[in-house]
Order: sequence, then C-alpha cells, then structure tokens
Amino acid sequence: MRIVRRSSLLTTSLLAIVVGGAVAVIGAQIRLELGFLGLVPGAIILAVGLRQPLRRWRLARTSLPTEAQAWLRTHVPLYPQLAPAARTRFERDVQFLMDEYSFEGVQGVTVTDDLRLSVAAAGAVLLHGRPDWELPGSRSVLFYPRRFNDAYYDSADAAYDGMAHQQGPIILTAPAVRDSWADAADADNVVLHELAHLFDFDNEGADGVPSLVAPASAGDWQTLMRREMRRVRNGQSILRPYAAEAPSEFFAVAVETFFEQPDRMADHHAELFAALVAFFHLDPRTGRRTPSPASAPTEGEGMEKA
Ligand SMILES: [Zn+2]
Repeated sequence: MRIVRRSSLLTTSLLAIVVGGAVAVIGAQIRLELGFLGLVPGAIILAVGLRQPLRRWRLARTSLPTEAQAWLRTHVPLYPQLAPAARTRFERDVQFLMDEYSFEGVQGVTVTDDLRLSVAAAGAVLLHGRPDWELPGSRSVLFYPRRFNDAYYDSADAAYDGMAHQQGPIILTAPAVRDSWADAADADNVVLHELAHLFDFDNEGADGVPSLVAPASAGDWQTLMRREMRRVRNGQSILRPYAAEAPSEFFAVAVETFFEQPDRMADHHAELFAALVAFFHLDPRTGRRTPSPASAPTEGEGMEKA
C-alpha cells in the first residue's frame, strides 16, 4: 500500500485543473475578477483527493503499538521473517487497514484489538509482495458471534464462518477469526480465505481467476486450476476438499494453504506454488519478495534477507 498512489494523484490534479479552469473561464467572462472563483472547486477537489494520502502520511509517522507488534510476532509467521525495512512497511500496512476499514460487531460481539489486527494482518500478508496494490472491494467488516446460513441467521444448518461480497461487507465469525491465527500452519484461515475472494471479483464474477492476473496468462491459470481441482476430487491434493466446490473456492483455499503451509505446497504442488509466488510476488517460505522486471524493488528492501 502506498501513501500516495501516483495514478490517483494524477487524476485528482487533472480534475482540479479542468474543473477549476472551467469555472475560472466562465467566471472571467462574466467579470474578470470572478475568474478567481475557479480556485474554490479546484481546492475542494484537491482537499478531498488528498485526504487519504495525508491521513496515511500522518499514520506512517507513528509506530504500531508494541502490543500489536508482539501479537504479530506470535501469530503471523511471515512477520518475524521480514527484514527491518520490510517489517516497518508491513506494520504500516496494518495501521492503514485498521484505520481505513470499519469494523462492527453484530449480535453482541465486541470488536477487540485482536479481531481488528487479525483482519488487518491478513490484508498486509496478501499485499506485502505488491506494494502498489490495495485490497479491492468493500471496506466494511462485520463480526458475527457464530456460524450463519445464507440468510445470515444462525440456525441448525448454519455452515458459514465467513462470506465476502462483491459489493457489501465482509462477514466473519469472531471465533473463526481467532482460530485463523491461533494455529497459522493448519491451512485453515477464514480471513485469508475471504480476503482472497476479493481479488477474484470482477466483471465475470468470482471465477477463480483473480482480476489482477494478466489476460495473457488467464488461460494458463485456468488450465492449472482445472488440473489441481481434479487432484482435489481424486484425493491427490493437500488442499482440503472444499477447494473442489467451485473455481472461486479453489483459489481461496489455495491462498490459505500457500501462506500457511508453503513448504508442503511447494513439495506437492510445485506449479501451483510457483503461480501463486508469481501472483503475490512473495515467497512465504522466506518472506522475500520476488519482484518482476516490471516492478523493481523499492524502499531498499526488495530482496530482503530473512
Ligand atoms: Zn469461499
């Protein structure tokens, strides 16, 4: 996550110039001094556009509280692997996510720091290799007290620990969120799972092909995915059976396993592992970024020493 994204800064500046300029020209035609009115919409557009970068810049000057750092150290295996500069950037991403997402407890759930940290840490893990990325989709997270069904009620048939929507909040049950990082090597992490779905929502719906995969390689991705889903159905995969439910579920379960059991995945599913390393630009076995030539390392921490 960047403090300022170059593309949005450019868009904001251009919009301010065009709208401000248009108002200035119209004003000047009425009376020359009214041309200064163009400054008003220009300044408003700049103020709105720069609000988030300024907020991030202020946050980046503060440190993540030591209790939160301790929590990350004991719960998130990637974090202690990172070199100091990369660790600082990880902490900054956690701060941005905790600040910019709204967290709400439903049916009596109290939103505690560990719940917020659990979600923010998963986002920081997914984005770490790709500093230019942001998490797509909704910035609202609801915590339910227990499993829910399609109608969002807890009932005898309640089967969901989490749900992500293309538009709408991310829903997670508080117990499953806590379980996710309590054992970060069991390949069962509802937060990574639901956030992974966010990368998969695009115009085609959730199809297991993340929208950020280059169109040229989408075909290869689908071929690999079909083959790996067959392995799941035939009991020849380390991915849990739910991965065969649908292509979108395959991707989300694969992401959980990639980050929680990277050595095992590299041993048993080398091609899938390599595809995910290429997608996330990160090798979770070492915590090192694997930048592509088009995305050279920045911040002096591209090839971190573990
Ligand atoms: Zn899912």
